[in-house]
Amino acid sequence: MSEEKSLNFLEEIVEADLAAGKYSSIVTRFPPEPNGYLHIGHSKSICLNFGLAKKYGGKTNLRFDDTNPVTEDTEYVESIKDDIRWLGFNWAEELYASDYFDKLYEYAVTLIRKGLAYVDDSTSEEIATLKGTPTEPGKDSVYRSRSVEENLQLFSDMKAGKYKDGEKVLRAKIDMAHTNMLMRDPIIYRIKHAHHHRTGDKWCVYPMYDFAHGQSDSIENITHSICTLEFIPHRELYDWLIEKLEIFPSHQYEFARLNMTYTVMSKRKLLQLVNEGFVNGWDDPRMPTISGFRRKGYTAESIRTFCDKIGVAKRENFIDLSLLEFCLREHLNKIAKRVMAVLDPVKLVITNYEDGKTEMLNSENGPDESMGTRTIPFSKELWIEREDFMEVPAKKWFRLAPGAMVRLKSAYIIKCDAFIKDVNGNITELHCSYIPESKSSNDTSGISVKGTIHWVNIATALEAEVRMYDRLFKVENPASEEGDFKDFINPHSLEIIQKAYLEPSLATAAIEDRYQFIRKGYFCLDKDSTANQLVFNRTVTLKDTWSKEANK
Ligand code: ATP
Ligand code: MG
Repeated sequence: MSEEKSLNFLEEIVEADLAAGKYSSIVTRFPPEPNGYLHIGHSKSICLNFGLAKKYGGKTNLRFDDTNPVTEDTEYVESIKDDIRWLGFNWAEELYASDYFDKLYEYAVTLIRKGLAYVDDSTSEEIATLKGTPTEPGKDSVYRSRSVEENLQLFSDMKAGKYKDGEKVLRAKIDMAHTNMLMRDPIIYRIKHAHHHRTGDKWCVYPMYDFAHGQSDSIENITHSICTLEFIPHRELYDWLIEKLEIFPSHQYEFARLNMTYTVMSKRKLLQLVNEGFVNGWDDPRMPTISGFRRKGYTAESIRTFCDKIGVAKRENFIDLSLLEFCLREHLNKIAKRVMAVLDPVKLVITNYEDGKTEMLNSENGPDESMGTRTIPFSKELWIEREDFMEVPAKKWFRLAPGAMVRLKSAYIIKCDAFIKDVNGNITELHCSYIPESKSSNDTSGISVKGTIHWVNIATALEAEVRMYDRLFKVENPASEEGDFKDFINPHSLEIIQKAYLEPSLATAAIEDRYQFIRKGYFCLDKDSTANQLVFNRTVTLKDTWSKEANK
């Protein structure tokens, strides 16, 4: 079915490991910290981890990396699960690093017993000073030579709550002159008197990332632990701890994180956008979160296709948002029903059409016959787009103008006979006549026109609010600009059309249903819709207007 593709470097590693009989099957994990909603970057990691396991008949665990008690929240846990399911993946087990706190504590005790960890009373400043620099070796802390017994006692006292935050830490005893700074006796446990979203007040010592991640991988028999490039220097410590603890040998592999233009992707920055009211929540359609894209009308398939297309790189780069939009348009073009909606209405009266008459016209739902047809009402008074009329037509103008003819989509050819303006010079009404023999389904008029415009029958029109979303930032890489990234927010990222008119078939639209509003773009019904007020979001324009601008 799919074209033959060469293997990415992770697939090569997995195939070699399986061929060598290193594992009977592979186990991967997706390890989010529940301190925010997932963003499009995470979808890369999700597609990769779940994709590998799926391809090679293995399994993927969902592990919440909840070792930091302060920033985590159950709201985030739920949103993460929703997003992964929506993307189309199922995890083998739902696990929490905090469930391993007892085990991790035991591992720390094991290291102490082996003379490979010690309690240090130095302040964080002293620890930093003694650490040295990449070109100078560090110096041993005076506490480094404590006896095993003393360390066991002190660590147990730390756990019992005898000390305040920061008074003592537990450090691995490796080498203060190591060329890798992370190997210079890294801190593996710290004191933090804080409530944890799952373990409550049971613990006041918490493992550091490096002492939790690899050990959790090992506890779960993870064969391939895939993370982003910034963890390359951590790999040595990852391997050291597993070796010294003599536990299941998980291995870490690194790939380049996904960076995308016109957005920011760190949860810390996204949280600022939410907390400071630049957007309306984590699922605001302008957010690069999975829930934001979903609410905006993106399909899970288009995100998966995008992740597949960008591949797995070993070098950092920026992917153009246009590529994601391209994948989206390709998918929506296949599945979205075509309907008519007028976003900037002006009234059109067909003067020679019978008063009070309504015809039901057939219209196809899409280019593909399998999408079927529907009927739409047509009568004397219609809404059309203001921009489809020009009083003084430009060159090559094939739409309405005084004396000009166009076809009304799925209906008749009309000719513009007159127009009415208000005192400010705005067009308020167009008067046209129709050619009865030109009905789309049976055109015997012999007249050919170059332009076709969409319309909505006034008497049966549905009113809707339409939220026109655009990119949240006006520069390609807001995080790398000088100054605050929020200074680069696009002031036109949301423009609300209070009253647009839609054809009546949209009365049955459900939340997240996606449509093509003919000639206007792709739209989906927003969850803010009520029985009395429809709200549509613009998902994406029909064409890529941004890259055109960039190429000017
Ligand atoms: P952030 O910096 O946005 O807070 P994070 O790496 O701290 O991200 P985690 O919840 O720890 O977020 O990430 C879970 C998994 O997703 C990790 O394995 C991480 O490597 C991966 N991940 C996070 N951001 C990206 C990205 N931009 N591209 C690819 N993978 C990512
Ligand atoms: Mg993280």
